Amino acid sequence: MKVFVFDAQKCNGCYSCQIACKDEHCNNSWIPYALPQPTTGQYWMRVDEQEHGAIPKVRVEYTCVPCMHCDAAPCIKAAAAAGVADAVYKRADGIVIINPEAARGMRELVTACPYRAIYYNEELDLPQKCTGCAHLLDVGELPHCVDLCATGGLRFGEEEDFLAEIAQAETLMPECDTKPRVYYLNRPHLFIAGEVWDPYSNDIVEGALVTLTDAQGKKQIVSSDDFGDFWFNQLLAGSYELEIMAKGFVPVKRTIELAESLNLGDFPLQRKD
Ligand code: SF4
Ligand code: SF4
Ligand code: SF4
Repeated sequence: MKVFVFDAQKCNGCYSCQIACKDEHCNNSWIPYALPQPTTGQYWMRVDEQEHGAIPKVRVEYTCVPCMHCDAAPCIKAAAAAGVADAVYKRADGIVIINPEAARGMRELVTACPYRAIYYNEELDLPQKCTGCAHLLDVGELPHCVDLCATGGLRFGEEEDFLAEIAQAETLMPECDTKPRVYYLNRPHLFIAGEVWDPYSNDIVEGALVTLTDAQGKKQIVSSDDFGDFWFNQLLAGSYELEIMAKGFVPVKRTIELAESLNLGDFPLQRKD
């Protein structure tokens, strides 16, 4: 069974995967798997961009979102509920296909997908989505989007070859319980950042120990860098206690309710003497 593995740390947001999908599927018919993708309005490989933080501590997160090729696919259930069971099916390799011969007129498939992976082609009167490039898989090749990802941000292969990474990975919208076959590594989630400085000398403080404790008591400790900056990455929303300690300075404590990435700004440290 096949899987996609996306690594947010390796993705540079180049959009090559999205363009590759257009290149492979616009103006090309890959029957029995797909009729041509329109040149506008559809992104069978969507690159979502999300900005975190506030200037000057800002990060952009890229998330590549094809069809998840779910094992418990709502689109397959919707087709069956509409009495057209062969309109969407799962191949033996795990790839989910909308049958372009049987699915005409089935607009309900668009709303059945919680990942917004299905688009409606008005001209063809047909719901369409990522095919996993099944026409390429059938001849032993990689999906075109994976083939053109130069950074290794997007990979594809047999599930058993990715087991160690899958164990560390997450899936999108787990609350939907769709059992997706696209796995995500190193998603940045939220961050807390700030800067430590000494107003007396008007200089940054390097090497201050900054401790972040979550609601379960789990601690992370970092040192302020040579710009006085500190970062805590890959945090989940919730309550945190922040403590800054530096030799010769009065410790600083702050309670933080984290709902979105935070640039806490400057921390002027008070000298002890
Ligand atoms: S997954 Fe690869 S091709 Fe797609 S945006 Fe990221 S780096 Fe570019
Ligand atoms: S992501 Fe959407 S279109 Fe793809 S298999 Fe799951 S429900 Fe169906
Ligand atoms: S696997 Fe093929 S159809 Fe799916 S997003 Fe990649 S290029 Fe597009």
